[in-house]
Amino acid sequence: MKIHTKAVHAGDRRKPGAFVPVTTPIHTATSYFYESMEQLDRVFAEEEKGYCYARHDNPSAAALEELMCELEGGAVALACSSGMAALHAAIASALTDRRKSIVAANAMYGATVGLLMNVFDPAGVSIQFADVCDLDALRNVVAEAKPGCIVMETISNPLLRVGDIERIAAIANEAGAALVVDHTFATPLLARPLELGAHFSVHSVTKYLAGHGDVLGGAVITDKQHAETLRALGRTIGPVLGPFECYLTMRGVKTFPLRMERQCANACRVASWLTGHPRVERVFFTGDPQHPDAATIRRQFPEGLYGAMMSFEIRDAGREEIFRFMDALKMIVRATSLGDVHTMMLYPVMSSHRELSPKHRQRMGIRDNLVRLSTGIEAAEDIIADLEQALA
Ligand SMILES: *Cc1c(COP(=O)(O)O)cnc(C)c1O
Repeated sequence: MKIHTKAVHAGDRRKPGAFVPVTTPIHTATSYFYESMEQLDRVFAEEEKGYCYARHDNPSAAALEELMCELEGGAVALACSSGMAALHAAIASALTDRRKSIVAANAMYGATVGLLMNVFDPAGVSIQFADVCDLDALRNVVAEAKPGCIVMETISNPLLRVGDIERIAAIANEAGAALVVDHTFATPLLARPLELGAHFSVHSVTKYLAGHGDVLGGAVITDKQHAETLRALGRTIGPVLGPFECYLTMRGVKTFPLRMERQCANACRVASWLTGHPRVERVFFTGDPQHPDAATIRRQFPEGLYGAMMSFEIRDAGREEIFRFMDALKMIVRATSLGDVHTMMLYPVMSSHRELSPKHRQRMGIRDNLVRLSTGIEAAEDIIADLEQALA
């Protein structure tokens, strides 16, 4: 089945019974009742399918997890209370029986760098950074660090570099490391990391999958090999997603492929309009044929689906001009998230990359005149018209 069909059907109508709801209800019970102790004992022992306690499993979460497995081609999924909880669960599972060492991409979501440096590093895990778009450089760092785990984002933030998951997975496998891919920006419509050899695919479902700016959530999807470790860790630490958020996420996912197609198409139109604007110095977009990772993008993503994120630099602009430009936006929402139905803009220097020193930002190529745009599902003409009047 195609992803559009799976998104609508998978996970729902799981249990034949006296009556079967067409869509999965919000199951709020924290524990489950059985007619006999014998049966409860069998459920605890996992000899019989059933639910016992909401930190272990919950029917609303199980439905969402089945849906995520279908979308990503995985064996087991864990619905988590945030994207960060999901990243933590994935990395901790990956390192359970491996060397306590991580090689991470040097362009990553700010909080992910924080997770590595402020949680894993103090716990005794050594952390190295590498450019995952330079495979020779990555091989050298991996040979030196002998990591238990490599962590990367399919599409990096905010300069939108694209790592070759298949080749990076080969490097990971050779080193005996697990590959954890934060797939939030790309979504399973563009690629499925597990099918390309990654061991864990991680999402902030807060973004494209839920898609309406009203859910904070995450998901980890993994293969057979890591299924038990991930499930055990989820049950022990309990980073699970509540039933209301599971419901909202499933409701969002049903239209995610449609929304994403529209958002990707809008991004192509907006990026090409921006490229021709005299006040725009540079546009960073995965659909640009001159993109430094164009060969990987062609191989990894379907034609026309390059993601719906872009960044651009405004000629000779500093903080003041950027503030004036962003304050002039009438329809585009100035906010820190991304992937929602509405188009959103963010100023990386002030928000996502605020904690970095100006020097560190400069090394990463993030200049003071750079803004990041997440295209929504509005009419492309209206997005362009708003940018045009704000740039005037
Ligand atoms: C938002 C985001 C996260 C964190 O997700 P939360 O749901 O906010 O915890 C991680 N990685 C990427 C790429 C993100 O965009």
